[in-house]
Amino acid sequence: MKLHLPVVSVYAVPTDAPEADGTLAWNSTTVVIAEVTAGDATGTGWTYGPAAVGDFLRDHLAPLVEGSSALDIPAVHEAMSRAIRNAGRPGVAACAISALDIALWDLKARLLELPLARLLGSCRERVPVYGSGGFTTYHDKHLAAQLNGWVHGQHIPRVKIKIGEDWGRAVLRDISRVEGARQVIGPEAELYVDANGAYTRKQAVRVGRSLAEHGVGWFEEPVSSDDLTGLRLVRDALPCDITAGEYGYDLPYFARMIAAGAVDCLQIDATRCGGLTDFLRAAALAQAHGLQVSAHCAPHAHAAAAAAIPNLRHIEWFHDHVRVEDMFFDGALDPTGGTVTPTHGIGHGLTLRAEEVQEYRVA
Ligand SMILES: [Mg+2]
Repeated sequence: MKLHLPVVSVYAVPTDAPEADGTLAWNSTTVVIAEVTAGDATGTGWTYGPAAVGDFLRDHLAPLVEGSSALDIPAVHEAMSRAIRNAGRPGVAACAISALDIALWDLKARLLELPLARLLGSCRERVPVYGSGGFTTYHDKHLAAQLNGWVHGQHIPRVKIKIGEDWGRAVLRDISRVEGARQVIGPEAELYVDANGAYTRKQAVRVGRSLAEHGVGWFEEPVSSDDLTGLRLVRDALPCDITAGEYGYDLPYFARMIAAGAVDCLQIDATRCGGLTDFLRAAALAQAHGLQVSAHCAPHAHAAAAAAIPNLRHIEWFHDHVRVEDMFFDGALDPTGGTVTPTHGIGHGLTLRAEEVQEYRVA
């Protein structure tokens, strides 16, 4: 079964409110979608990144994929990985490979008329999720409404908010927002924070001690995830889990992060690291080192693969991407109760609503 030339489309969706974390602000989300066909079936994959990812995919990867065997994903994946050597893997090229790889897994499951979770094989039926958003741009009522919706509306007992506002220059507001979040969600729900690398090393340790008073058990990127020594220093100083890994675009990145003892839970993003193929490999690497894994963002891209790995902690039910994936796909998952069950339909169970989302198309 030979692959046809993949088709690419790019969409930009405005956020529903201004959004920022500790080190970046944005007002729209760009999604690059790859569709790949063999026989009567089409697989759909996607990544979140600049429109240039779509150009790169169309110009450099699509011709390479055309004519390959639809069932031999490792061969196609390896050919793509080798072909981008001179372009450089991290960033645009890795996101393009990821979108295509996700499409290839969806296609293979559809060709075999199986749910993707069955093709991969599962070690759990239900995949835990955590609500993620809590942008630093939200006023207190907005933050409270979002957290309330997850914890008391959808009964998701784990939530994450952004801290490190303005590169760590607003620590008092960070702490007061954490305090407010704890009041909203109550003493039982798990409270996580993400500083997106905003703090300096010792600043992160000081903030982390205050966070502990509010029962924060997850401190994501307290310092830059490029500062592996700093992550390790913070990790050794604090009782909460230190987590990072969302900028992992290849397996050696995860190997270095693990070797440095930088994290308690490794975050992996299949829409960046090389698709589901490398997501599963990175998860195995983590398992070999006694670490759990959490899937970063793009929850519908991860659900089936997350069910397949024994060392999964959860997947991130990220506000922006949940919103986009609900808009773009029929078959979106329901996180009520704090888990999703990715065994509906064949493939990943999602169908692109190309007509309905046409207004957002930019390429
Ligand atoms: Mg993060």
